[in-house]
Amino acid sequence: MEFRQPGCLTSAMAVRPVVITGDPVLHRPASRVGSFDGELADIVEDMFDTMDAAHGVGLAAPQIGLGLRLFVYEMANDDGVPPRGVVVNPIMALSKVPQARPDPDLETEGCLSVPGESFPLKRAEQARVTGFDVDGQPLEFEATGWFARCMQHEFDHLNGKLYVDRLDERHSKKARKAIRNNGWGAPGHSWMPGVDVDPFGHDDDDLDEGGHDEHLV
Ligand SMILES: [Zn+2]
Repeated sequence: MEFRQPGCLTSAMAVRPVVITGDPVLHRPASRVGSFDGELADIVEDMFDTMDAAHGVGLAAPQIGLGLRLFVYEMANDDGVPPRGVVVNPIMALSKVPQARPDPDLETEGCLSVPGESFPLKRAEQARVTGFDVDGQPLEFEATGWFARCMQHEFDHLNGKLYVDRLDERHSKKARKAIRNNGWGAPGHSWMPGVDVDPFGHDDDDLDEGGHDEHLV
C-alpha cells in the first residue's frame, strides 16, 4: 500500500466529478467488468483519488458516471479485512435487516451522490462479500457493523439503488423534498471534490487520520 499524506493532493491524482441523484447512471444496474486490464487499474486509481478528495469511505463506479460493477472503500474494521480496497463484480449475502426504527444517532448515513444530506436507515449487521480484486484474484470476506453498512451501500449503487430509495416513509419524504429543493432529480448534475465547497462541511476536526468520514459511504 502506498503511503499517503492526509489532505495532500499530488499532481498524479485524478479526481473525477461525482454525479448527483437524477443522473440515469445512478438509477440502473451496472454491467459486469469484463477484463482486468490497465484501463480498469486506471479507473480504480481515479476512484480512490476521488473518494479521498471527497472524504468518503466508499465510492462506486456509477458515482463517477461509469456503469461498471466495482467499488472502492476506506474503512478500518474489526473483520480482519484490509482497510482500503476495491471489490470488482461483487456478490453479497446479508443477514436479516432488523425490523425496527433506525436510530438517528447511530444509524445515519450519507452519500456523495446526494451531497450534503444524511438520513437514518436500518441495515443488515453482517454482509458476506465475494468478488475480485483489481488483478482479477478472487476475494471473500465477512463484514460487520459499519463496515457491513458501507458494503451494502456500495453494492446498492451497482444495482441502481441509492440509500434514499430505502428510507422509511417519514425520512423518504424529507429526502424527496431535499432533492427537489436542490434542483436535483434530473440528469446533468455533479460536483467536484477538492474544488467545489465540501457539501458535507468537512473540516479536519471531524475526520479520522486519513481524512475520511465514516458516515459518508
Ligand atoms: Zn453512495
